[in-house]
Amino acid sequence: MANLDTLIQDLVIANRILAKEDVVDAYGHISVRHPDNPKHFFISRSLAPELIEKDDIVELGLDGQPVKDEKRSLYLERFIHAAIYEMRPDVTAVVHAHAEDILPFGIAKATPLRPVIHSGSFIGKDVPVWDIAEKFGDTNVLVTNMDQGRDLAKCLGGNNVALMRGHGFASAARSLIEVVRMSVYLPRNARALMRAKMLGGEIKYLSQGEIDARNAGYSPYSTETWRAWEYWANKAGCGHMLTRPDGGHVHKHDHKHDHKK
Ligand SMILES: [Zn+2]
Repeated sequence: MANLDTLIQDLVIANRILAKEDVVDAYGHISVRHPDNPKHFFISRSLAPELIEKDDIVELGLDGQPVKDEKRSLYLERFIHAAIYEMRPDVTAVVHAHAEDILPFGIAKATPLRPVIHSGSFIGKDVPVWDIAEKFGDTNVLVTNMDQGRDLAKCLGGNNVALMRGHGFASAARSLIEVVRMSVYLPRNARALMRAKMLGGEIKYLSQGEIDARNAGYSPYSTETWRAWEYWANKAGCGHMLTRPDGGHVHKHDHKHDHKK
């Protein structure tokens, strides 16, 4: 049970980080698969990520419905998570958000969103664009049932990120830390690409070899990965909530403290 508590605590931290880093605002969500039951996952009830506490986390099945009695409202778009977990047994954590910097790349077909900066390598070489209208015609553009979720998951395929035309993105990864990192750097990569386009001329994307080299030897608790998680958590005011499963040292000084040293 201690492990589950820690996981849910990490999910709360992940929500706060995504809010602080402007990946989500009032909308957008992150989930994590149940470690002992791959047919269940955890996600908040319908609430802005910045405000989420442990008690707001609910457990859903792969049909997107709560597994226990739940009177509180749930996210309309929880089917994005359910369908990706259903289709991708390798995926442990999912983010859906509407970060503005990625939106142009789901709208304009001329320039694909791909890694152009080293920290953007985690999004993977190809980022498919899903257009809800192709199969579902005129909708409110939100993913509000399993059919739509599955169509999105199919478009995502084996990739890490899919853009959703006129709406946002969905990202999937092997751990909470990894999906947060990917979702934080995705809009930054998009910004760099957009600015490079403004300078004009040919765009030089990261090569497959460079992307592979960046991803080689990935570990969620490597010094480099942990450093970012610890930094973001402290910046988001939840450094005191950090725990490290490998027993390593944790810095807990939430951001109000003096950083002049
Ligand atoms: Zn959405």
